[in-house]
Order: sequence, then structure tokens, then C-alpha cells
Amino acid sequence: MKDIEKLVRKNIAALCPYSTARDDYQGPLGVFLDANESPYENGWNRYPDPHQKALKARISEINGIAADNIFLGNGSDEAIDLVFRVFCEPGKDNVVAISPSYGMYEVAAAINDIEVRKVQLGEDFGLDADALLDACDGRTKAIFLCSPNNPSGNAFSNAEVLEITRRFDGIVVLDEAYIDFCSVHSLIGKAAVEGNLIVLQTLSKARGMAALRLGMAFSTKRIIGLMSMVKYPYNINKATQETVMEMLGSPVDAQVAEIKAQRALVAGKLAALPAVRKVYPSEANFLLVKVDDADAAYSRLIDGGIIVRNRSRVPGCSGCLRITIGTPEENVKLIELMGTL
Ligand SMILES: *Cc1c(COP(=O)(O)O)cnc(C)c1O
Repeated sequence: MKDIEKLVRKNIAALCPYSTARDDYQGPLGVFLDANESPYENGWNRYPDPHQKALKARISEINGIAADNIFLGNGSDEAIDLVFRVFCEPGKDNVVAISPSYGMYEVAAAINDIEVRKVQLGEDFGLDADALLDACDGRTKAIFLCSPNNPSGNAFSNAEVLEITRRFDGIVVLDEAYIDFCSVHSLIGKAAVEGNLIVLQTLSKARGMAALRLGMAFSTKRIIGLMSMVKYPYNINKATQETVMEMLGSPVDAQVAEIKAQRALVAGKLAALPAVRKVYPSEANFLLVKVDDADAAYSRLIDGGIIVRNRSRVPGCSGCLRITIGTPEENVKLIELMGTL
């Protein structure tokens, strides 16, 4: 078992979190004169549940993981930031991250004054466990992995991720934002038992709720407790808690299946175009596409009303655009425009 206590910042280990008087009252119909709210009921005058009990119970049921092992954040971005705030001493500690990968790890690290040691993925964006572990030193608190990875689109095997988790004494953050589109199964089942693994998922992609801002972290009870202690008390507003509860009732399997079918179709069509050099295999809802001239392709698409992500200045992605899979009609328009290059 990993010794998590050694990793936690001293000020966080000693923190006495903000508590609400309502935590002491479990009855249904109280007279709430504790929080200086407006007493006039309009649907929104009361503070939301800071523990998100109902929503966590639902997410627990869906994922088969106990509510104590679930943290809910204002997007996964909040959970990423909290990893730094809980474990990383500003100006002293560091984290290791794969590169290229999601930009928020670096932004959150910079805000928290934490060095990021980037370890370049291999030729076809493969993972090198030894290189990642070699980049760590006594002040490395976390390794950030993303699978399927953004922007490369490939997934790492569970065996590779678990090998790193077991060989590393710090925290391993595995970002599974695109797991619904992937053939490798999720590692959330391991999050409560590995001891040092935090699995991140989000409702922003396959679940279609980007505007509601709900990210999830799955880990041990202790790590979830630390993150919950440091978060803003009312980090998930009532509109989000209630709307998510409702929307979780509607399955998105058909949409995910269509995106995956379209991904294969668009990849095939793009690969046949003269200006396209390579379409990388994808386990996500986007394609990384290498073209002759990324800036020219990007401008041509913009002129035609299609916005994609130009990743050509990202190390390892020269000449590449990252293109999200849209509706079948949107994808036809994309292929048409790309054909004019
Ligand atoms: C889109 C994305 C997220 C989602 O972030 P939210 O804050 O939950 O919207 C997380 N990680 C990666 C790699 C992403 O691409």
C-alpha cells in the first residue's frame, strides 16, 4: 500500500475545512435560519447540497463504485487543479506529464507554481513507462496520463497504466475524458483499490453536458476526502446537480455508436485526400490529421465556416489538425472542404 500521507502538503493535512450548520441537521423540513439566505422560496434561494449526496448516489449506482470514492467538480478541470493544491508544494514540488497531452495540466501547474516535466510520447504516441519514471525525483508528486489521449487520440493499455501506478509511489492521474469512445475499458474499478490512482471522467464529451460543468474523480476514500476538504463548499450549483440527475436518465449509446461509425468513415475519406499525409488511429471523438500545410488547411476551413484545432505547433504534432467528429452532415461539409486543398 502506498503512503499517501507523505505526499499531502502539511498545511492541507492540518486543514480544518469550512463546515455548514446544515451538516448537523438531517431532518426533512427544518426552519433554516443558519445561512443568511432569503427566506422567500423561488426555487433557488437556498444553498445547494455541498456534498451532492443525491447526484453522487446516482453516479455511484451507474458506475458501481461507492459514493465515498467519488469527487464531483466544476468540470474535470477543478479536479486537476485540486491535485496540485492538495499534493504539490508551490515552488518546490513537480509533476511528470506525457506530451503531447491536454493543456490544462500545464496551466493548472503554472497557476500553482509547479514544474511540469514533460515526457515525449513515442513515434505513434506510445507510452514509455521507464522514461516517465526516470523523469521523476524525490519531489515528483504526480504523473499525469490521459487515455484516450488528447490530442493524439490513441489509448494506452490498462496493463501499461497499472504498471506505472504500481512502480510509482506518488499519485497517478488517469484522465479518461474520452473513455466512452474507446475499446479499452475504464480503470475506475481500480481507482478505489490501487491506493495512488485518481481516474478522471467528465460529462462534457460523450454525455453531452459541457455547459453544465460536471467532472468526476474516482479514487480512495482518503484522496477523495482530501479533495473534498479543499474544494469550494458549493462547487456544484443546484441547476447543475438537478439537470444532470435528469439527463443521466437518457442514454447516449446511440449517439456514441454514431460518432464511432462516423469516426471510421471520416478517417477513411480524409486519408484518401491529396493534401492529407496521415490520419492517426483514434479511440476518441476526434481525429488527429497530418496535412501538407496545417496553417493553410486551417484557414481554408475557417473561410468555409468550420473551426478545428490547429495543433501544428505542439511538439510531436507538426502539420497536424485536431478535428472533432460532428454530425453526419457536418462531417460531409468537412470532407468537401478538405478536398479543395
Ligand atoms: C475535454 C477534456 C476534459 C474535460 O474537461 P471538463 O472540465 O470536464 O469539461 C478533461 N480532460 C481532457 C483530456 C479533455 O480533453
